[in-house]
Amino acid sequence: MLIKDCPFCGAVSSVTEENTTQTFEYKGQKLACENYKVRECTECGESFELPDDNLEHERRILNFRRQVDGLLLPDEIKALRESLRFTQKDFAALLGVGEKSFTRYERGSITQGRSMDNLLRLIKDNPQGTIAVLKGVRKPAAEEDAAPEVIPEGAASDILGTSTATMSSL
Ligand SMILES: [Zn+2]
Repeated sequence: MLIKDCPFCGAVSSVTEENTTQTFEYKGQKLACENYKVRECTECGESFELPDDNLEHERRILNFRRQVDGLLLPDEIKALRESLRFTQKDFAALLGVGEKSFTRYERGSITQGRSMDNLLRLIKDNPQGTIAVLKGVRKPAAEEDAAPEVIPEGAASDILGTSTATMSSL
């Protein structure tokens, strides 16, 4: 995107573009990004970047953080799922997360938490055993709402009767 006028001071044709090397630090580790675009106003000296300027770098920075944190990278998660021949939908159901969340892990737009990462590593190390355990896990309650448990009529009135008695005795 070409911007000539400064969004900060309003000066006309004052914005210059420069490709720089930026170093990012995360938990004491450093990542150098070459050709990182920075825009600067020659009038007010404000430097800034636009949302689309450094998308590739943003991906690299996120992955760098994942590596420092010891979390699987999006491509590794995708490769794991594909090696086991699961669809995104079925793998998400197996993991107990929404399909949207899982898709975002694979795309790298969000980072899985530590417990999800542990679960993925368990599947990676021992696919057969872990998948068998996960398939045996009871489905979350929300998915069972369609077929609520039926309480026998007698039992329900017993409960009501008891509480009524307690209340009237007070
Ligand atoms: Zn300016």
